[in-house]
Amino acid sequence: MSLYLSASIDEAIRIEGEKGYPYEICGFMLGAAQAQDQDQNGGGWLITKILPIDNARETEAKHNRFEIAPTDFMRAEREAIAAKLDLLGIYHSHPDHPAYPSQFDLEQALPFYAYAIVSVIKGKADTINAFKLSEDRLRFDFQGVKIWR
Ligand SMILES: [Zn+2]
Repeated sequence: MSLYLSASIDEAIRIEGEKGYPYEICGFMLGAAQAQDQDQNGGGWLITKILPIDNARETEAKHNRFEIAPTDFMRAEREAIAAKLDLLGIYHSHPDHPAYPSQFDLEQALPFYAYAIVSVIKGKADTINAFKLSEDRLRFDFQGVKIWR
């Protein structure tokens, strides 16, 4: 099952990644969990809003770490409810690294949420991939990203 991004959200995540380069950026993804799957694979998630969040880490660690505080989750839940959307996932950037999760990403990941990673190579946004934690929480399952038009 793919993760769908509206065209403007695809663009917004790329711009965030480029703005933050060479540091990692991160934020929440909001949308509708019951969106129709264009491939008729039984439903997909459509992301229609993002909430960029401040990277809480020290500058030295920003190259390869992102951290989200519990208060960030609280704020995101409130904004989702106010916008009548669901909090569906988290995006972050990989400056000069491929759009695949690191061991740290796996250790930080929560069930249910979709994790989108944008690779930013030499300051230019490249691939965006999406993943979900497997049920045994030992690995990520590749989800793929599709642009909703
Ligand atoms: Zn990562």
